[in-house]
Amino acid sequence: MGPIDYGSFEAGRHVNYFDLDHTFRREVARVLDDDEHDWAEPRLHEFGEVVGQTVADNADTVDDHGPELHTYDAHGNVQNEVEYHPKQYENERIAYGAGIVADAFEAPPGREGPMPLTHHLAMEYLLSYADPGFTCPVSMTGGVALVLDKYGEGDVLDSYYERLVARDGDCVEGAMFLTEEQGGSDVGANETIAEHVEGREYELTGEKWFCSNIDAEGTLALARTPDAPDGTKGLSLFLVPHTKGDAWETDELNDQLYRRLKDKLGTISVPTGEVELQGATGYLVGEEERGFKYMTDMLNLERLSNATASVAIMGRCLLEAKVHAANREAFGSPIQEYPLMKRDLVDMAVDHEAATAYTFDAGRVLAEREAGDDEAYRLMRALVPVAKYRTARMSVDTASYAMEILGGNGYVNDFVTHRMLRDAQVLPIWEGTSNILSLDLLRALESEDAHEPLLAEIRANLDAVEHPALAETKSVVESANGDLGAAMAALATEDGEYAQLQAKELADLVFDVYTAALLCREGQAEIDESDDARTALVAERFVDRHLRESGGDRGIGDGDRFALAHFDSVVRYESVDPASLVDVAPADD
Ligand SMILES: Cc1cc2nc3c(=O)[nH]c(=O)nc-3n(C[C@H](O)[C@H](O)[C@H](O)COP(=O)(O)OP(=O)(O)OC[C@H]3O[C@@H](n4cnc5c(N)ncnc54)[C@H](O)[C@@H]3O)c2cc1C
Repeated sequence: MGPIDYGSFEAGRHVNYFDLDHTFRREVARVLDDDEHDWAEPRLHEFGEVVGQTVADNADTVDDHGPELHTYDAHGNVQNEVEYHPKQYENERIAYGAGIVADAFEAPPGREGPMPLTHHLAMEYLLSYADPGFTCPVSMTGGVALVLDKYGEGDVLDSYYERLVARDGDCVEGAMFLTEEQGGSDVGANETIAEHVEGREYELTGEKWFCSNIDAEGTLALARTPDAPDGTKGLSLFLVPHTKGDAWETDELNDQLYRRLKDKLGTISVPTGEVELQGATGYLVGEEERGFKYMTDMLNLERLSNATASVAIMGRCLLEAKVHAANREAFGSPIQEYPLMKRDLVDMAVDHEAATAYTFDAGRVLAEREAGDDEAYRLMRALVPVAKYRTARMSVDTASYAMEILGGNGYVNDFVTHRMLRDAQVLPIWEGTSNILSLDLLRALESEDAHEPLLAEIRANLDAVEHPALAETKSVVESANGDLGAAMAALATEDGEYAQLQAKELADLVFDVYTAALLCREGQAEIDESDDARTALVAERFVDRHLRESGGDRGIGDGDRFALAHFDSVVRYESVDPASLVDVAPADD
């Protein structure tokens, strides 16, 4: 294909986010089966259009008119009411009506069974181009549905599940209240108490310190029964409805107090607050003292939703940067003509492509596991924490640099980079910080031997690569895969303190090697399918930056002119002839 003319757009809005993002489209086509893709593609196109038009505009308005909590009415009675701007309700109708949650749980029109969770993530990706904050309640709604589908029993939980996965006006949202003031990372420090009433009904008393989507119709909360052991193994999981009794038929509030909303830096569209549970009615999910285990299923999906929002922020910021760089003139030329700006945009595009490929591959593995493939579990355990850790940090970097590319305007609230950077900054914090996720990778290696499927998957991806255009890149990744295996083996023999000290280095190495092998394989597939070596170029650049050793001069003397030679291909999606990337050996005289 010819290069996209980003100069023909005024900004990264009022465009179709699906049509313009060829990286995302390639990933969707790769992780869905052909029949799933045939069904999904027109819907993603339609959703990409409405998000690019209506949802994006609404999101800016909502950011300036965030939700307000009215804990009491005029007479001092508790009412726990959150007031939203009407445009937030419109965004909710659009997203839930498009099946963003429902389609992955119940067969949508035109299909016999539900779509895989990768489709849910793909829809979240498009939504996050416009409003990463709103993706938080959407992803928690999906996460609660996942947990209740697997472990929920009884009429209340059944009826709640049905409403979570509804497409029409009956649709309700979910949330999760884990964090207490004394511990977010250390969930085992939870002190909230759950006392048995009858059947599955309990009364919960305690304080939850960070509660996003505070007024969801029902919330999953962790609490401890009176004689339960300390730590995570003593935690049980409860559904705490907003209203009491039959949760859907009465206006009587549950016994809890929405104390105040946090005054946050970003994700303004979702209200995050503090909740006092004052003997609130909760319904036990599954069995007592297995709550943390159930919650980890939700957390894995939330962490991938987080990664999806991260890569979507990168995509939106990159789009804004490309459009600005094509239109803005300085010193007599569009700024995209200057070598340093070409290099900036090439490397941002490669970062986005790498992070998107990794995230959707982790999504594919999680979806396979949730569809019943137990073999996928160990690989998923290694991939998910790394996806969440690395993409969140990358998204902050990309949003920050895109702001700089927009110059002074980028720092001003009239331009979306202002909101994107604020929204991005929470992504490394919630759902597990960078350190906590790196430690989780160590746990996956130790308790699941996750290095075995991880190294095997990297190997399998590399084995599929045979085109000469990828030969040199492949050999660097092969060597790096050996180094990764050696690093994991070395850590396994070290004491725990040393392993923790190196955990983040290891998580970075896992991301770099896994992504490099994946991009090589995708590069090979693109050459096979369409005789286009653009993704092979992306793989080459990623490997050069992350896996190739540079000398003391940091590569300055290497004569690297990649960004000048391949700007149109990498940044503007122009096709590349594979033969042009193969060095022709000089003929012997
Ligand atoms: C906007 C927002 C919305 C949120 N919404 C929700 C929600 O809806 N539900 C919910 O349950 N929670 C929510 N949270 C809470 C969030 O998940 C926690 O803030 C997060 O998990 C970190 O926990 P903490 O704040 O207690 O920090 P801590 O756990 O005290 O961590 C502080 C620092 O210590 C580091 N650290 C901790 N332990 C270790 C260790 N062993 N080794 C090395 N470093 C370590 C962490 O990496 C971090 O940098 C939200 C947070 C925010 C900011």
